[in-house]
Amino acid sequence: MDGVFVYGVVTTGIYCRPSCPARTPKPENVRYFANTELAREASYRPCKRCKPDQVGTELSRLTEVAEHIRSHPDQRLALSDLARRAQMSSSHFQRRFVAHFGISPRQLQESVRMQRMKTALRAGSAVTEAGLDAGFGSSSRLYEPPGRRLGMSPRAYSRGGKGERIAYAIRHSGIGMLLMAATSKGVCSALLGEDEAMLLRQLREEFPQAEIVLSQAQQSAQLDLWIDALNAHLSEGSPSPDLPLDLRGTAFQIKVWRFLLGIPSGKAVSYSEVAAGVGNPQAVRAAASACAANRLAVLVPCHRVLRADGGLGGYRWGLERKRTLLQLERQR
Ligand SMILES: [Zn+2]
Repeated sequence: MDGVFVYGVVTTGIYCRPSCPARTPKPENVRYFANTELAREASYRPCKRCKPDQVGTELSRLTEVAEHIRSHPDQRLALSDLARRAQMSSSHFQRRFVAHFGISPRQLQESVRMQRMKTALRAGSAVTEAGLDAGFGSSSRLYEPPGRRLGMSPRAYSRGGKGERIAYAIRHSGIGMLLMAATSKGVCSALLGEDEAMLLRQLREEFPQAEIVLSQAQQSAQLDLWIDALNAHLSEGSPSPDLPLDLRGTAFQIKVWRFLLGIPSGKAVSYSEVAAGVGNPQAVRAAASACAANRLAVLVPCHRVLRADGGLGGYRWGLERKRTLLQLERQR
């Protein structure tokens, strides 16, 4: 668990990484911190023995491995070697990689190959040749569907994003411009619109206190993966990506958004069903407002909520888009 959390010991004022060889403190004297900054903020000092500040965070180690995979699409990469790079056991590495990026190391490599192949095809190579160039052993592998995966870690945070760094990227999608932004915890915003400047303005309004930076693959490989996955879903009908989400809202809003996450693609529910689903059948209007306050377009599928009479109701990103999304999902 090194890099996942550190613990402080009340009686000594020192914080350690989980694997510290020092004597195990009494449970009642232990305080847990998500990272070393928080431990220092609480006035703990780093242990001289286990040097907790020298462990890269789990995410930074996993991101390094993801970069390695992206830059070696045509090599056979053994899971055990990748896990060693991340300083984890193979099974733990696989689980944590999926938890952070929403796809397995293998799926990442395939998606990088697929992108290379698309580029080759655009440049005019024949399909088989492009497949071989991109590192696919045989063209049949191209048609294997990407597996569905779990990777959700929804959490509640206060609004504003004070002291946080939020990286964003903007792409053209099948249903307009798509802005996606992420904190270190997951995707915190996915907005649809026509105009890049307006999307960016909306993001700044949502997180007025945060430092908002344009994502560079270097700094935020995971965001590039996520936006590609969502864009592929919107533009090409690939499965909806299960990305790690950083949900921020009131307790009620988060309850509603979690409920929406459980509505399967191709299905729709009414606002009153949402209210009932979160255990508050009277709160139909509040449930509708919570749907309208969703800032994760498509990822939190508020487009799957309709009026009781089957009418479209509202949609923050335009009724035309809501109609298109529902149609796409039904066709599939
Ligand atoms: Zn220590």
